[in-house]
Amino acid sequence: MHNLTKCFLCSDFGKTTKNSVEKQTVFGADTRKIFKGPQELFTGEVQLSLLFPPNETAQYSGAHCTFQPRARTAWHIHPAGQYMIVTSGVGRTGTRYGKILEIKAGDVIWCPPDTEHWHGASPDAPMALLLITGVFECKNVIYKEKVTNEQYLGRSGTASVGQLPSE
Ligand code: MN
Repeated sequence: MHNLTKCFLCSDFGKTTKNSVEKQTVFGADTRKIFKGPQELFTGEVQLSLLFPPNETAQYSGAHCTFQPRARTAWHIHPAGQYMIVTSGVGRTGTRYGKILEIKAGDVIWCPPDTEHWHGASPDAPMALLLITGVFECKNVIYKEKVTNEQYLGRSGTASVGQLPSE
């Protein structure tokens, strides 16, 4: 199983430097690693697909993540932040003290570094996310405890379901 607390490929992959002239790299669809989100880090049915690793000049990784209804991540932080692009469906994301945000296909969400949060599908619809996650000191995510049903449904503490603010 992947150790998701570590940067996926901070190994010897990607020795690109700014001054080198190199070929482009194709991460072929037929070589993609796709796996089920482990139950100690996710609730419900989650599929993860790793798209690309960080390299020396592009210090972020890409992944595609599909959540079935009610499925979500555990609480976690990203030491260098994360962009979430909703590629299909309807979902939600929450932070410790903020409202739960409803998110839908086409929305782009920035989660700042070290902000405890979770993300997942809505109770009655699936959601897919393209995740662009920054890397800091070879880590891109640190998981914490799982999200309770009360937290997911916005029935605990100050959290309640709200809308993304419009600009
Ligand atoms: Mn996240």
